[in-house]
Amino acid sequence: LLTVKKKTWIDISPELSPKSAVFPGDTALSLVPLMQFAKGDPLYLSALTMTPHLGAHADSPSHYHPEGCDIATRDLDFFLGRCQVIHVDLAPGERILPEHLQGKKIEAERVLFRTLSFPDPNHWRDDFNSLSPELIAWLAKHSVKLVGLDTPSVDPANDKELKSHNAIYKNDMAVLEGLVLDHVHEGFYFLIALPLKIKNADASPVRAILLEDSPWKKS
Ligand SMILES: [Zn+2]
Repeated sequence: LLTVKKKTWIDISPELSPKSAVFPGDTALSLVPLMQFAKGDPLYLSALTMTPHLGAHADSPSHYHPEGCDIATRDLDFFLGRCQVIHVDLAPGERILPEHLQGKKIEAERVLFRTLSFPDPNHWRDDFNSLSPELIAWLAKHSVKLVGLDTPSVDPANDKELKSHNAIYKNDMAVLEGLVLDHVHEGFYFLIALPLKIKNADASPVRAILLEDSPWKKS
Protein backbone atom coordinates (compact mmCIF):
# COMPACT_ATOMS: atom_id res chain seq x y z
CA LEU A 1 0.00 0.00 0.00
CA LEU A 2 1.27 3.46 -0.86
CA THR A 3 0.49 6.60 1.09
CA VAL A 4 1.60 10.18 0.61
CA LYS A 5 3.56 11.79 3.43
CA LYS A 6 1.75 14.74 4.96
CA LYS A 7 2.49 18.35 3.93
CA THR A 8 4.83 17.50 1.13
CA TRP A 9 2.77 18.97 -1.66
CA ILE A 10 3.01 22.41 -3.28
CA ASP A 11 -0.05 24.02 -4.86
CA ILE A 12 0.85 25.43 -8.29
CA SER A 13 -2.66 26.55 -9.30
CA PRO A 14 -3.88 30.16 -9.14
CA GLU A 15 -7.18 30.98 -7.47
CA LEU A 16 -10.04 31.20 -9.97
CA SER A 17 -12.53 34.04 -9.61
CA PRO A 18 -14.36 36.57 -11.77
CA LYS A 19 -11.16 38.65 -11.44
CA SER A 20 -8.99 35.98 -13.13
CA ALA A 21 -7.37 37.51 -16.20
CA VAL A 22 -8.57 35.91 -19.43
CA PHE A 23 -6.99 35.65 -22.86
CA PRO A 24 -8.64 38.31 -25.08
CA GLY A 25 -11.80 36.67 -26.45
CA ASP A 26 -12.13 34.12 -23.65
CA THR A 27 -15.10 34.13 -21.27
CA ALA A 28 -14.33 35.17 -17.70
CA LEU A 29 -15.53 33.12 -14.78
CA SER A 30 -18.98 33.74 -13.36
CA LEU A 31 -20.95 31.88 -10.73
CA VAL A 32 -24.62 32.69 -11.16
CA PRO A 33 -26.66 31.73 -8.10
CA LEU A 34 -29.61 29.44 -8.86
CA MET A 35 -30.56 28.86 -5.23
CA GLN A 36 -29.58 31.01 -2.23
CA PHE A 37 -30.07 30.76 1.56
CA ALA A 38 -30.82 34.51 1.63
CA LYS A 39 -33.80 33.88 -0.62
CA GLY A 40 -35.16 31.11 1.55
CA ASP A 41 -33.78 28.26 -0.54
CA PRO A 42 -32.53 25.20 1.38
CA LEU A 43 -29.26 25.19 -0.60
CA TYR A 44 -26.71 27.40 -2.25
CA LEU A 45 -26.44 26.29 -5.87
CA SER A 46 -24.77 28.08 -8.74
CA ALA A 47 -24.15 27.76 -12.46
CA LEU A 48 -20.52 28.07 -13.52
CA THR A 49 -19.61 29.74 -16.82
CA MET A 50 -16.10 30.18 -18.23
CA THR A 51 -13.89 29.09 -21.08
CA PRO A 52 -11.91 26.07 -19.88
CA HIS A 53 -8.57 27.85 -20.45
CA LEU A 54 -8.74 29.79 -17.19
CA GLY A 55 -6.07 29.43 -14.55
CA ALA A 56 -4.11 26.19 -14.44
CA HIS A 57 -5.46 24.08 -17.29
CA ALA A 58 -4.66 21.33 -19.76
CA ASP A 59 -5.29 21.98 -23.45
CA SER A 60 -6.71 19.11 -25.43
CA PRO A 61 -5.29 18.33 -28.91
CA SER A 62 -8.70 19.30 -30.36
CA HIS A 63 -7.94 22.88 -29.29
CA TYR A 64 -5.10 23.24 -31.78
CA HIS A 65 -5.72 20.57 -34.43
CA PRO A 66 -8.89 19.56 -36.31
CA GLU A 67 -8.03 15.87 -35.84
CA GLY A 68 -6.96 16.20 -32.20
CA CYS A 69 -8.80 14.30 -29.48
CA ASP A 70 -10.90 15.94 -26.78
CA ILE A 71 -9.79 16.25 -23.16
CA ALA A 72 -11.99 13.35 -21.97
CA THR A 73 -10.08 10.81 -24.05
CA ARG A 74 -6.62 12.15 -23.26
CA ASP A 75 -4.32 9.63 -21.54
CA LEU A 76 -3.92 10.55 -17.85
CA ASP A 77 -0.31 9.34 -17.83
CA PHE A 78 0.65 12.70 -19.30
CA PHE A 79 -0.55 14.58 -16.25
CA LEU A 80 0.66 12.28 -13.51
CA GLY A 81 4.28 11.49 -12.82
CA ARG A 82 7.82 12.63 -12.31
CA CYS A 83 8.53 16.16 -13.42
CA GLN A 84 11.33 18.69 -13.55
CA VAL A 85 10.95 22.40 -12.80
CA ILE A 86 13.34 24.68 -14.70
CA HIS A 87 13.83 28.42 -14.07
CA VAL A 88 14.46 30.68 -17.05
CA ASP A 89 15.10 34.42 -17.11
CA LEU A 90 14.23 35.98 -20.46
CA ALA A 91 13.38 39.39 -21.91
CA PRO A 92 9.66 40.25 -22.04
CA GLY A 93 7.82 38.50 -24.89
CA GLU A 94 10.71 36.17 -25.70
CA ARG A 95 10.23 32.49 -26.57
CA ILE A 96 12.29 29.88 -24.70
CA LEU A 97 14.89 28.30 -27.01
CA PRO A 98 17.09 25.25 -26.41
CA GLU A 99 20.03 27.69 -26.02
CA HIS A 100 18.39 29.11 -22.92
CA LEU A 101 18.69 25.74 -21.21
CA GLN A 102 22.45 25.45 -21.49
CA GLY A 103 23.92 23.61 -18.55
CA LYS A 104 20.58 22.06 -17.62
CA LYS A 105 19.95 18.37 -18.10
CA ILE A 106 16.49 17.09 -18.91
CA GLU A 107 15.90 14.12 -16.65
CA ALA A 108 12.13 13.79 -16.43
CA GLU A 109 9.31 13.16 -18.89
CA ARG A 110 7.45 16.25 -17.72
CA VAL A 111 9.05 19.69 -17.71
CA LEU A 112 7.62 22.88 -16.19
CA PHE A 113 9.16 26.26 -16.97
CA ARG A 114 9.14 29.09 -14.45
CA THR A 115 9.40 32.36 -16.38
CA LEU A 116 7.88 34.79 -13.82
CA SER A 117 6.63 36.74 -16.87
CA PHE A 118 2.93 36.70 -15.94
CA PRO A 119 3.27 37.61 -12.29
CA ASP A 120 -0.35 38.40 -11.42
CA PRO A 121 -3.01 35.88 -12.55
CA ASN A 122 -5.62 38.65 -12.10
CA HIS A 123 -3.87 41.14 -14.37
CA TRP A 124 -3.66 40.53 -18.11
CA ARG A 125 -0.47 41.37 -19.97
CA ASP A 126 0.63 40.20 -23.39
CA ASP A 127 4.42 40.33 -23.03
CA PHE A 128 4.71 36.94 -21.33
CA ASN A 129 7.31 34.37 -22.33
CA SER A 130 6.33 31.32 -24.34
CA LEU A 131 7.83 28.16 -25.79
CA SER A 132 9.37 27.74 -29.26
CA PRO A 133 8.99 24.94 -31.82
CA GLU A 134 12.76 24.40 -31.59
CA LEU A 135 12.50 23.86 -27.84
CA ILE A 136 9.60 21.44 -28.23
CA ALA A 137 11.47 19.38 -30.85
CA TRP A 138 14.51 19.32 -28.56
CA LEU A 139 12.42 18.26 -25.55
CA ALA A 140 10.73 15.55 -27.63
CA LYS A 141 14.19 14.16 -28.43
CA HIS A 142 14.75 13.93 -24.68
CA SER A 143 11.52 11.87 -24.32
CA VAL A 144 9.56 14.71 -22.72
CA LYS A 145 5.80 14.14 -23.00
CA LEU A 146 4.39 17.10 -21.09
CA VAL A 147 5.42 20.75 -21.06
CA GLY A 148 3.98 23.34 -18.72
CA LEU A 149 4.57 26.97 -17.92
CA ASP A 150 3.46 29.89 -15.75
CA THR A 151 1.93 31.92 -18.59
CA PRO A 152 -1.43 31.79 -20.40
CA SER A 153 -0.05 30.21 -23.59
CA VAL A 154 2.83 28.26 -25.13
CA ASP A 155 2.74 30.76 -28.04
CA PRO A 156 3.02 34.56 -27.75
CA ALA A 157 -0.26 36.41 -27.08
CA ASN A 158 -0.53 38.00 -30.52
CA ASP A 159 0.79 35.03 -32.50
CA LYS A 160 -1.53 33.66 -35.15
CA GLU A 161 0.62 30.78 -36.47
CA LEU A 162 0.69 28.90 -33.16
CA LYS A 163 3.96 27.19 -34.00
CA SER A 164 4.52 25.85 -30.50
CA HIS A 165 0.99 24.44 -30.30
CA ASN A 166 1.55 22.76 -33.69
CA ALA A 167 4.91 21.33 -32.60
CA ILE A 168 3.24 19.99 -29.45
CA TYR A 169 0.60 18.29 -31.62
CA LYS A 170 3.21 16.85 -33.98
CA ASN A 171 5.10 15.31 -31.06
CA ASP A 172 1.94 14.21 -29.21
CA MET A 173 2.92 16.12 -26.09
CA ALA A 174 0.52 17.38 -23.48
CA VAL A 175 0.49 20.96 -22.28
CA LEU A 176 -0.27 22.74 -19.01
CA GLU A 177 -0.72 26.50 -19.05
CA GLY A 178 -1.49 29.10 -16.38
CA LEU A 179 0.55 27.51 -13.58
CA VAL A 180 1.95 29.46 -10.63
CA LEU A 181 5.59 28.56 -10.02
CA ASP A 182 6.92 31.64 -8.15
CA HIS A 183 7.44 29.64 -4.97
CA VAL A 184 8.88 26.51 -6.59
CA HIS A 185 12.60 25.71 -6.61
CA GLU A 186 14.30 24.13 -9.59
CA GLY A 187 14.38 20.39 -9.21
CA PHE A 188 12.39 17.21 -9.37
CA TYR A 189 8.86 16.60 -8.18
CA PHE A 190 5.90 14.34 -8.74
CA LEU A 191 3.24 16.20 -10.73
CA ILE A 192 -0.50 15.68 -10.30
CA ALA A 193 -2.61 17.83 -12.66
CA LEU A 194 -5.57 15.78 -13.82
CA PRO A 195 -8.04 17.30 -16.29
CA LEU A 196 -11.76 16.70 -15.84
CA LYS A 197 -13.38 14.14 -18.14
CA ILE A 198 -15.46 16.65 -20.12
CA LYS A 199 -16.57 15.17 -23.45
CA ASN A 200 -15.69 17.31 -26.49
CA ALA A 201 -14.00 19.95 -24.34
CA ASP A 202 -11.04 21.86 -25.82
CA ALA A 203 -9.37 22.05 -22.39
CA SER A 204 -10.03 21.49 -18.71
CA PRO A 205 -9.08 23.34 -15.57
CA VAL A 206 -6.75 21.30 -13.36
CA ARG A 207 -5.77 21.54 -9.72
CA ALA A 208 -2.07 21.21 -10.26
CA ILE A 209 0.15 20.17 -7.38
CA LEU A 210 3.73 19.03 -6.99
CA LEU A 211 4.78 16.41 -4.50
CA GLU A 212 8.34 16.38 -3.28
CA ASP A 213 10.36 13.92 -5.30
CA SER A 214 9.92 10.36 -4.06
CA PRO A 215 7.05 11.19 -1.69
CA TRP A 216 5.81 7.63 -1.75
CA LYS A 217 6.53 5.51 1.27
CA LYS A 218 5.54 1.96 1.93
CA SER A 219 3.31 1.28 4.89
ZN1 LIG B 1 -5.11 26.74 -23.20
